[in-house]
Amino acid sequence: MRIDKKLTDYVVEQVVRLVKTPSLAGHTDRAISYVEEELTRVGIAHQRTGRGALLATLKGREEGMHRALTAHVDTLGAMVKELGKDGSLLFTPVGGYALATVEGEYVTVETGAGKLLRGTILFDEPSAHVSKKINDTKREFENMRIRLDAEVRDAKGTAKLGIAVGDYVHFDPRCEVTDTGFIKTRHLDDKAGVACLLGALKALAESGSRPRRTTHFLFSTSEEVGFGASAGIPPEVGELVAVDMGAVGKGQESDEYSVCICAKDSSGPFDYALRQRLVKLCRSQKIPFKVDIYPFYGSDAAVAVRAGLDAVTGLVGPGINASHNLERTHRKALAATVRLVLAYVEPGDGKR
Ligand SMILES: [Zn+2]
Repeated sequence: MRIDKKLTDYVVEQVVRLVKTPSLAGHTDRAISYVEEELTRVGIAHQRTGRGALLATLKGREEGMHRALTAHVDTLGAMVKELGKDGSLLFTPVGGYALATVEGEYVTVETGAGKLLRGTILFDEPSAHVSKKINDTKREFENMRIRLDAEVRDAKGTAKLGIAVGDYVHFDPRCEVTDTGFIKTRHLDDKAGVACLLGALKALAESGSRPRRTTHFLFSTSEEVGFGASAGIPPEVGELVAVDMGAVGKGQESDEYSVCICAKDSSGPFDYALRQRLVKLCRSQKIPFKVDIYPFYGSDAAVAVRAGLDAVTGLVGPGINASHNLERTHRKALAATVRLVLAYVEPGDGKR
């Protein structure tokens, strides 16, 4: 199925809206509600799973083994761990990232009562005119703070604002779409994947075509903390393709202009026959692709298998530069991913 500029624009728009919708693991309801509304708008039936993920199923033209695609809405962030003596906050990570990638970031602290307070992540001796430590101290969670934009001088004052241990801390996404086709923002992992699935579902709904096999689309909610697609995938599924970021970097094949097909990640090699089929689809439909190995990477595919899913798995997705950092991709990679997803579901005539 060809995809036009309008559909790619739609996918970019979905990325922008999704990254601006906070959704840390354990607190993903807003993003799931957003996807829910978008699926309703597009005309795709869906249901929530027990754990609050979202499942949309398209009935196939043929009987037999089902297929599934999954992308995760949860992203990286933090949680208040301690109210500091000076009125600042100590925090614990939600998901895995290096402190260097968030130092200086503006954040929103969400209190239990739903009050939003602004702040900044800083080293605890951040002023160059006061301390030399800023240059040579290894950043640890113990020496990092959130400086609140509120007149507080001690922990009592912070507590008075309604802030408590366990409150969520959302990083500013800093989303920017450039006129050169790049989307640079935090949380492309895996909101870019979610947007690609939405784009594919929109194309399928508008064309009125049905996938060859019954195909389930799972929008999972806790991948960054290790158990996203451990439930919610129907047992009839014999093939699962996770749609998650391609790892761009030194020594990597992946780039920001292609759909990246993973041959092996930290969980081991993906199913060879499925991988070959995905490569063949890219070749035959002239979809820009790269095959790559991700050295430090786990995905919902591995999670589902570890949880007992009796299926072969694959992993595809847009190449993301500087992952779990100030991420960036290009609209070409989004378009290529949507095209591969559509090629994989093998749409054909027949009412849904
Ligand atoms: Zn991911």
